[in-house]
Amino acid sequence: MLSKVLSKASCAECRFCCSFRRSSLWELPRLPAEFAEKYKTDTEGKEIRYIFDECGGVPFAVTDLTGGYKTDDPAEEVKCPFLDPRRGCILPPEDKPFDCSIWPLRYMRREDGSLVTALTPTCPEINKLPQERLTELLDGGLRGQIEAYAKEHPYMIKPYREGFPVLG
Ligand code: SF4
Repeated sequence: MLSKVLSKASCAECRFCCSFRRSSLWELPRLPAEFAEKYKTDTEGKEIRYIFDECGGVPFAVTDLTGGYKTDDPAEEVKCPFLDPRRGCILPPEDKPFDCSIWPLRYMRREDGSLVTALTPTCPEINKLPQERLTELLDGGLRGQIEAYAKEHPYMIKPYREGFPVLG
């Protein structure tokens, strides 16, 4: 969805958003519950553990990476079960989590209840672009797509975090 501003090549090389420190586990893509039924093993054939929850009556799943850390180092990262170190994300486009397809954008709820599209400040690639490019993309239809998805899948809305620039 962001291919107009982020090239596939630069994302494939970086993969920053597909590995997670303990402190960034909240960033894991939230998945439709049926996704967890379909994908039971990771890129090495090992069973994937999921955490199940619901939001607004809509069930969802998140991969459980907590057992993957080998040290107490807060900088240690565990990769998403769908990230192949050589091929990148192994999921077909139709199963790519919506959260991943709009990264580094996030749809967030502020304390006053308002919903905003915000930018993850740590994406190394997007920060090379002027923010106006992203605003143009949102105004060109992406904002509507995100809002429509969030209506059907309210679990994708994350609590707003300080430091995330709001794009509107
Ligand atoms: S599902 Fe694919 S794109 Fe999303 S975090 Fe995992 S490997 Fe990356």
